[in-house]
Amino acid sequence: MLIDGHGRKVNYLRISVTERCNFRCLYCMPEKPFSWVPHENLLSYEDMFEFVKVSIDEGIDKIRITGGEPLLRHGLDTFIKMISDYKNDIDLAITTNGYLLEETAQDLKDAGLKRLNISLDSLTPEIAQKISQKDMLEKVLKGIDKAQEVGLKIKINCVPLKDINDGEIINLLDHCKLKGYEIRFIEFMENSYAKVKQGLSSQEIQDIIKQKYNFTKGIREGSSPSRTYTLEDGYKFGIIEPHLDDFCKDCNRIRLTAEGFLIPCLYFEDAMSIREAIKDKDIKKASSILKDVLKDKPEKNKWGSENGSDRAFYETGG
Ligand code: SAM
Ligand code: SF4
Repeated sequence: MLIDGHGRKVNYLRISVTERCNFRCLYCMPEKPFSWVPHENLLSYEDMFEFVKVSIDEGIDKIRITGGEPLLRHGLDTFIKMISDYKNDIDLAITTNGYLLEETAQDLKDAGLKRLNISLDSLTPEIAQKISQKDMLEKVLKGIDKAQEVGLKIKINCVPLKDINDGEIINLLDHCKLKGYEIRFIEFMENSYAKVKQGLSSQEIQDIIKQKYNFTKGIREGSSPSRTYTLEDGYKFGIIEPHLDDFCKDCNRIRLTAEGFLIPCLYFEDAMSIREAIKDKDIKKASSILKDVLKDKPEKNKWGSENGSDRAFYETGG
């Protein structure tokens, strides 16, 4: 079992397989970065899998593949298969913008994937395009339908932004309710790359939903980063509330970047590389770096600069 320096059990690894993305979301990567990490600096899937085995053997039982846009990196289905063959009952999911899902959903399902989180900020083409800076809605919706058709369980993520998509909250909730998807609204997290003035707070999101629905008080289940709210008809939605005080209390996450940096917290500049250890097939060293990073995991996120984080979410996987 992996325990961090503050006594929290860590069982959840988020892996960013690429920082590249085909969208330019205003809250994440509004502009193409000055330079991308060169391909030769990326860990191969085989290297990542070596680290995944170490992590699973040490107690990780939940893995999320993210990015950038993970479906842009070729061979993702093979990586999924490596992981699910190693531990079939692992809670394995991908977070994607959905643009390439129509053509990849079946292969991912066949490789052993069970769940997907898909970002969807609006059902109005112009608003979706304004946020992602791409004419993408129709293709994303087709991709989501395809994923459901092949039997993948779907959760939708939405980041409500003031005066941009705040009028879409009820629309999205109703759409997900009808389709049988869970939806989670994520409070906008300030970072120095974003070109967004303000996101909606959890309370503001709830106030909008209250205009149409009654729902229960939010409940935090286990170490989930979101609170769950239940409508009178039993439908549940979530809100991820990083601005609330208790957000870090039960944090069980650690992050691996595509270059091999192990990051204990989104809002914390320190990181350690497992790259050399993995390239040298030094499993003991990789495992010891993992434990050192956990010792260093801060008790609470450090919203560093006045803009929040200086490390891009497309690098760490959000
Ligand atoms: N490209 C994929 C996607 O968009 O789902 C995966 C990577 S993205 C960085 C992962 C998650 O982080 C998405 O749900 C996205 O909405 C969220 N995210 C990115 N920037 C954010 C920000 N500034 N505040 C809150 N959530 C953010
Ligand atoms: Fe790309 Fe996802 Fe960031 Fe949007 S949120 S720019 S889709 S990585």
